[in-house]
Order: sequence, then structure tokens, then C-alpha cells
Amino acid sequence: MAGIFIFSEDRALAAQLLTPALELKAALGEPLTVLALDAAQATELSTLGADKVLVVGDSATWIEGLGEPLAALVAHASVVLVGGTLRGKHLAADVAARLKTGMTTDAKAVRIAGGKLVATRILYAGLAVCDEELPLPAVVTIRARTFLAPTTTTAAAPIEQAVAKADARVTVESVTPTSTAGVDITAASRLIAVGRGFRAKDDLKLAEDLGKVLGAELACTRGIAEDEHWLPIERYIGISGQTVKPELYLAVGLSGQVQHMVGCRESKTIVAINNDERSPIFEAADYGIVGDLYEVLPLLTAALRK
Ligand SMILES: Cc1cc2nc3c(=O)[nH]c(=O)nc-3n(C[C@H](O)[C@H](O)[C@H](O)COP(=O)(O)OP(=O)(O)OC[C@H]3O[C@@H](n4cnc5c(N)ncnc54)[C@H](O)[C@@H]3O)c2cc1C
Repeated sequence: MAGIFIFSEDRALAAQLLTPALELKAALGEPLTVLALDAAQATELSTLGADKVLVVGDSATWIEGLGEPLAALVAHASVVLVGGTLRGKHLAADVAARLKTGMTTDAKAVRIAGGKLVATRILYAGLAVCDEELPLPAVVTIRARTFLAPTTTTAAAPIEQAVAKADARVTVESVTPTSTAGVDITAASRLIAVGRGFRAKDDLKLAEDLGKVLGAELACTRGIAEDEHWLPIERYIGISGQTVKPELYLAVGLSGQVQHMVGCRESKTIVAINNDERSPIFEAADYGIVGDLYEVLPLLTAALRK
């Protein structure tokens, strides 16, 4: 058994997987191989510390159909890290089943201890953290933005074409990207998240005005998107919504329930504005203003404009 392998069809996430993979490489003293979906991804990832890059498909590959060939390629692996997208989880489970080995999802950290892989995971929507031990070989999925991609580049690793024939029963006829309303909030460095403390849709203008001054995008709680339909669902944060890690998360008129906070708790700085000093958001916040958002937001916008 030898080797650490990574795979994600999501280009940014694939690069992020290299950070924990390089730590595992150091701990195990085993080579690190990137399984790249196509030649372009292979070139992109080849200078981030891996020992080898194998191209396993092309733009027409049905990723879910790669279970069998990927399992053959990683047959002797110690650890396989897979990007924790919906499609990646599907593929990881397929590979783990074929290897007849254990798998865990959404690890926040991975390490080797006592010859096993220890994966740290968040449980019960953020109420608990647990360490799971997996005997090697282990298959682990990791969600986007759990790690930063390596910042130092290395000499380009050799790129080879792997024989990886996807299950031919499903073929990709055409690809239509999902249309999203507006920007990708997961990439924003500043977010203003609004909650049910706002009494009407038009009142969101108060947050938009502050957003313009701060250079921040609007995010929200589930109720604002799914019940009120005041903002598109791509903008709601939490266990069933987006996970974000901005520099600044300004939570306005939201209570900070655990299902929401699990999506933003790793923001660098959390600032809360809430008129109830006992609101749980103040436990998570680095800075808090106890006050009525209808008074505080215009004052803050005016002060920052100066
Ligand atoms: C299975 C499940 C999954 C869920 N997934 C998610 C999820 O992914 N994301 C998510 O967001 N939620 C999710 N929820 C819902 C979650 O539990 C909370 O109900 C929700 O996050 C609360 O939204 P809120 O903070 O906007 O509203 P509330 O909890 O009603 O909070 C409103 C806050 O505004 C404050 N406020 C009121 N008026 C003012 C004012 N004038 N000025 C300042 N502050 C004011 C109040 O003090 C209060 O703290 C989920 C729930 C379940 C059961």
C-alpha cells in the first residue's frame, strides 16, 4: 500500500486538496498523485507539490462513471482525498465501496496517528466536533474552502495520460451551466448577512447602501431566501445553504442559530448588529452592536462615507 491521491472535478477545490495531501505525504513519506479530469487541470495542478499527475478524462467525461477506473488507479493507495461536491461524494462512495474500505465526508482536518487516518468532522450542525479513525486505505471528502491552496509553486510534476474508461452507459451530450442571479458570494471577501430583523423587502436597501460603501455583497438567512423570497437562494448561508469564509461577516438582524452559523463560523471577523443582547449571534461575534438595525445601519453608512 502506498501513495496519496487527490481528485476533484472542481478546479479550485482540487488545488485546495493539495494542502492536506502534502501534509499526509510528509507524515506517510509516500508519493502524492493528482488525478486530473483533463489536460488543462493537469497543467494547472502540476506545479503545486505533487509527484505525478494522471489525466483521467476529458471535458466530455461523466464524472460519476469514473468509479471503476479510479478504483483501479488507487488500488494500492493509503489515502484518497476527493473534493466534497455532490458529484465528488457520489464518486468517493463508489470508489470506497470498490476498494472495500472506509470513507468519511466533509473532513475539516486530516492527520495520521497510530497508522490510521484521523479525520476531524463537525457534527450536529456545528454543536460538536469529532475525530474519526479510519484504517488505511481511507477515502475522505473535503468541502470547498476548508483549506487554502498551496501558495508556493514547485517544478512541474510529470503529467501522464491514464487509461480511465468511464462507464459508457451514460454519456454527456451537452453541458448547460446553472444560471445564478448575480455574483458568487462564496468568493466575496466582505458579506453583509441579513435576517428576519428586517421587516420588509424594501428595507434591505439599508444593507445594500452599507454594502456599497463597504464593498460588501449581501447574504442572508434561510427564511429571507426560502420563505420571503427577498433574495435568491444562492445567497443564503448555513447547513443547507452556502459555506463562506470572508474577511468580514456583518450579521444584521439575524439571531445566529447553529444551522446558520455552521456556514459562516470560519469568517475571519464576525460583527453583529442585533437589538436583543441575549441573541446567540453575540456569542459568535468578534464585535457586537446592541441596537435597532433601522437606526444603526444609516448611522454606520453615513460614518463610513465620511
Ligand atoms: C433542518 C434545518 C436546516 C436549516 N438550515 C438553515 C440554513 O442553512 N441557514 C439558515 O440561515 N437557517 C437555517 N435553518 C433555520 C434556522 O434554524 C433559523 O431559524 C434561522 O437561521 C433564523 O433566521 P433569522 O436569524 O433570520 O431569524 P430569527 O431567528 O427570527 O432572528 C431574527 C433576529 O433579528 C433580531 N431583530 C429583530 N428586529 C431587529 C431590529 N430592528 N434590529 C436589530 N435586530 C433585530 C432579533 O433579535 C433576532 O435575533 C434551518 C433549520 C432547520 C430546522
